[in-house]
Amino acid sequence: MSTPSVVPTRAGLESLPKYVPGRTVPGAIKLASNEVPAGPLPSVASAIAASAADINRYPDMGAWALVDRISTRFEVPQERIAVGCGSVALCQQLIQALCEPGDEVMFAWRSFEAYPILTQIVGATAVTVPLDAGHTHDLDAMLAAITPKTRLVFVCNPNNPTGTAVRRAELARFLDAVPPHVLVVLDEAYREFVTDREVPDGLELAAGRGNVAVLRTFSKAYGLAGLRVGYAVAPEQVTAALRQVYIPFSVNSLAQTAAIASLDAEEELLARCTKIVAERSRVRDALLETGYQVPETQANFVWLPLGEKTADFAEHALANKVIVRPFAGEGARVTIGNPDENEAFLTAARSFPALT
Ligand code: PMP
Repeated sequence: MSTPSVVPTRAGLESLPKYVPGRTVPGAIKLASNEVPAGPLPSVASAIAASAADINRYPDMGAWALVDRISTRFEVPQERIAVGCGSVALCQQLIQALCEPGDEVMFAWRSFEAYPILTQIVGATAVTVPLDAGHTHDLDAMLAAITPKTRLVFVCNPNNPTGTAVRRAELARFLDAVPPHVLVVLDEAYREFVTDREVPDGLELAAGRGNVAVLRTFSKAYGLAGLRVGYAVAPEQVTAALRQVYIPFSVNSLAQTAAIASLDAEEELLARCTKIVAERSRVRDALLETGYQVPETQANFVWLPLGEKTADFAEHALANKVIVRPFAGEGARVTIGNPDENEAFLTAARSFPALT
C-alpha cells in the first residue's frame, strides 16, 4: 500500500547532490567501484566466520583490538587512531566535528564525490578548486583559496577519480603553509597501490603536525568493501572529536575481526595489489597505444578524460558487458580487475567507434 508522507523534510534536502554508486548488471564485469577482484583470503573468511558466533553481542564500540593492531603496525599511538564505518563515515565525522553551518570545506574538483554531499548535509559550504591541466591537485590555488572560514581541506592522494598523485616536496610545502586553523585531510584510500617513491606516505607527513589527518580504508587493497571499515590517524583532539560524533557501534564486530585478520595477512594481500599494479601499467599502455589520453595513475583505476563522449563510452562498454563509472561530460573511471576482466575492457575500448 502506498503511504505518502505528510511530514515535511528539511529545507533544501532534495536539492543536495546524490551519491551515485557503481552499477551492478547481472552477467557484466563490474569495473566501476574500485574494488579488488579477489574474494577474501581463507584466513580472513574463517576469522569472520568465527566472529559470527558472537553476533548476539554488540561490537566493541571503541574497536580497541583493531586500534591496537593499527597502532602496532603503523607505529602511531592509539590516541591518534579512530576507526569508522568506512573512511566515508570518517569524512562525514570530520566535517560534523569541525564545521558549523557556513564554515568552508575545500577540495579539488573533480575528486571523491562524497565530499560535496557530506559537506552540504552538515550545512557547511563546499569550496572547489579545479584540478590542473594534468588532472592533478593545484595546491597553490588551494592555498590561495583558504579563508578564515575554511575548516577542512581534503587532499585525496591518489585522487579519485583521476588516479593522479601529489609528490612529497609540494605536499610538504603546502602543509607548511596552511594556517593552523585548517585541518588538512590526506585521504589515502588508495595508498597501497602507490608505486612512485616520490608520492609521500601521509603518516610520515602527519607526524608532529597538529593540523593534519590521514584517512585509510580496508575497502580497497584489503578487500573488505562489503564490511565497511576504515581508520583515521590524526592529532589526539581530532580523534577524540571523531569519537564524539561516532554513531554508536557502527563498525560491526565482523568488520573489526576481518580488519585485524587482514593486517595479519597483509603480505599476501599486498602481493595481490602488486599484481593489480602490474595490470594497471599494462592497461594504461594499451589504452595509450589505442589513442586514449590516460593520466599517470597511482591507484587501482585509470581515468579517461573523454569529455562529451563519456556517456557513449560507458554505454559501449556496457554493450560489451563491462561496467565502467562515467562522470557525465568529464570522463570515465575504470577499475583495474583481473587480467581477463581487463582484457574484456580493452576489447571494448579498442572498438569504441567515437574514439577518433
Ligand atoms: N575516499 C576515497 C578517495 C574513496 O574513493 C572512497 C571510496 N570510493 C572512500 C574514501 C570511502 O571508502 P570506504 O568508505 O569504503 O572506506
